[in-house]
Amino acid sequence: MPSHKLIAGNWKMNGSLAENEALVRAIAAGMGEATCTVAVCAPALYLGQLQQLRAGSRLEAGAQDVSAHTQGAYTGEVSAKMLKEFGVRYAIVGHSERRQYHHESDALVADKAKAALASGITPIVCVGETLAEREAGKTEEVVKRQLAAVIHTNGHCISEVVVAYEPVWAIGTGKTATPEMAQQVHAVLRAQLKAATDHADRVHILYGGSMNAANAQALLAQPDIDGGLVGGASLKAADFLQIVAAAR
Ligand code: PGA
Repeated sequence: MPSHKLIAGNWKMNGSLAENEALVRAIAAGMGEATCTVAVCAPALYLGQLQQLRAGSRLEAGAQDVSAHTQGAYTGEVSAKMLKEFGVRYAIVGHSERRQYHHESDALVADKAKAALASGITPIVCVGETLAEREAGKTEEVVKRQLAAVIHTNGHCISEVVVAYEPVWAIGTGKTATPEMAQQVHAVLRAQLKAATDHADRVHILYGGSMNAANAQALLAQPDIDGGLVGGASLKAADFLQIVAAAR
């Protein structure tokens, strides 16, 4: 596993200029000597504000999506090169909300990861099964298929991505995978990465899905859980900072 953990907040479509300012200032001030890497993934429109607010701190910035294309006639899209101009380090790709509401395919997600890497942005590739898929015993099959597409498209660069295991049934529902359930899937993903690269041990595999101040420590204690992708609990500085503290 990597030498330090990564805690990334996913604000989703939340925030305002005033709310972001209060939240980022509190996180930056409260991070202290955190030994883990801490990032917040903001709506694209606020990445410029985030760049200013986090200046001088160790807080990193992430986007919630990125275009698979480099430039041109793609109305509404934001390229990895544009993100880079605003000091963005990470871009979430293939979040289940985008797979579900925007019909993003495994192949498109893999192309987005490739576009991010080409511009020096680290993609946070989300994989995860729905409740129906879990109940049908298809969890492994689904997450392996989703990750395989990214490995296929990115070859040896796969060691440069971050993977986030987010069981869809745990996202925003308050239902968390138990640490053992999550670890089981993380071990499957690690083995798949090992088959693709000699550097699988340096890939961060994050858990996401109702991670909070109360359950973070037990999840982060698992051998293949290298951090968290935190939605709801990243919108309150106190909660988010407790998760950061659990990752030290
Ligand atoms: P949640 O969201 O922590 O609110 O469940 C996680 C995510 O969707 O990334």
